[in-house]
Amino acid sequence: MGRKMPTRCSLCKKDNETLSHIIWQCRFTRHIWAWATGIFNLQLVEDLVVSYKVVKGKSRTIKDMWIVTNLAVTTELWKLRNKAFFEGATVNWLGFKGRVYQIIRDNSIRIKGHMFNKLENLRILSYLKVQRRSSKNSTPVEISWSPPEHGEIMICCDGAALGNPGQAGASFSFKDANSRVLGALCVGLGWQTNFYDEVYREANFTAYNLDKEACLLAEDIYEFYEGRPMCIPVVKWPGEVYYHFK
Ligand SMILES: [Zn+2]
Repeated sequence: MGRKMPTRCSLCKKDNETLSHIIWQCRFTRHIWAWATGIFNLQLVEDLVVSYKVVKGKSRTIKDMWIVTNLAVTTELWKLRNKAFFEGATVNWLGFKGRVYQIIRDNSIRIKGHMFNKLENLRILSYLKVQRRSSKNSTPVEISWSPPEHGEIMICCDGAALGNPGQAGASFSFKDANSRVLGALCVGLGWQTNFYDEVYREANFTAYNLDKEACLLAEDIYEFYEGRPMCIPVVKWPGEVYYHFK
């Protein structure tokens, strides 16, 4: 009757090996986490689920990069452990760090989303050599509208595209002197670059919600709604100032 002795960690060759030791506590592991949290300027939380929460409030790009980093570190640690355990490979810190760094960079190509226009974001992305992406520019623009004269109908239009180039659409809404939405029209513009639909753009509100519906229509297909369509949840009050972000 023999008792199974706990295995010695293949990375540090000192402590007993557990999954938690390999992923978080091993002195070798601590090096890689210190490096990773240093890039993002974050505190290490020894829990993958909780770890995601430390990037709360950061930009989409940074959040995604952080998840990729977490996954790259943990999967590579496990692969390294197996290589050392089964094949007796020697553990090389610089080689390991380089591999994790390369994996993060390779995966960053697929990351979509915006960054914040902050020095911190630029610093992280340039360290990881991620192509700088556009930031959502938040210049507020004051907009208001007034209803047409009696007997007149106001026509507003807007355009949108799903991607550039991509499926584009334009929409028109018709309002009367009482600010009532008489109807709306959507038209599919087919496969276009952004330039085409921008030609349709005007400062207006109602058409804004509709143009996204229009993107779903095939080229030259029109759809007409009598009254206010369901996809327009609210109509902005005339004469009141609203802020849109350009
Ligand atoms: Zn260890």
